Amino acid sequence: MQITEIFKSIQGESSYAGLPCVFVRLTGCNLRCDWCDSEYTFTGGRKMGIEEVEAEVERLSPRGGLVEVTGGEPLLQEKEVIPLMERLLNGGYNVLLETSGERPLERVPREIIKIVDVKCPNSGEADSFRTENLDALTLRDEVKFVIANREDYEFARDFTARHELGARVASVIFSPAFSKDASGERDTSHCLLDPRELAEWILNDDVPARLGLQIHKFIWDPAMKGV
Ligand code: SF4
Repeated sequence: MQITEIFKSIQGESSYAGLPCVFVRLTGCNLRCDWCDSEYTFTGGRKMGIEEVEAEVERLSPRGGLVEVTGGEPLLQEKEVIPLMERLLNGGYNVLLETSGERPLERVPREIIKIVDVKCPNSGEADSFRTENLDALTLRDEVKFVIANREDYEFARDFTARHELGARVASVIFSPAFSKDASGERDTSHCLLDPRELAEWILNDDVPARLGLQIHKFIWDPAMKGV
């Protein structure tokens, strides 16, 4: 499979935020979200076999723990990524899969925790989510919305209600979009939507969502890769 990077850091998103985690970042994506912070994954990388990736994960985290398979869009390399995730599961790792939900999820083993990033209207990739994927979600999975403004918020709020996500998955996450060119200050000034405003909307509408901040962008310089 084509791999951009494998590294160990602090998980910055989802309900696993704050935990040490090994990231396996695959090369290539079929979407082009306006605020994508992973454009460097679109091309390049290097070919690695399943055993080679597994060995690198074990080197970085020999006692098990959390591994996130991400990208890019990892399911573009499904034929190798699914066996890799199965091997990591069998090796005792807790495996997260970050995906846009544009690729089918039905073949992903249910023990893998899917973090599905449903694209909002202002992402530039509205309507990319494959609705049939709702049937593949379990109470272990999480659904995330990256929100830039009120229109995105209302889309996420209504999608959550219409599909009863609060009862369908472990967590629904509303996260303010972050400027992709951000660097320097590690504060909320780089958020395209003030987190306080988003928090107030969630509270006012009683949405069963968790406010998510990408904590790695508050720990390190927001422009830093590989963290
Ligand atoms: S799906 Fe993810 S990697 Fe692909 S363009 Fe959107 S944000 Fe970037």
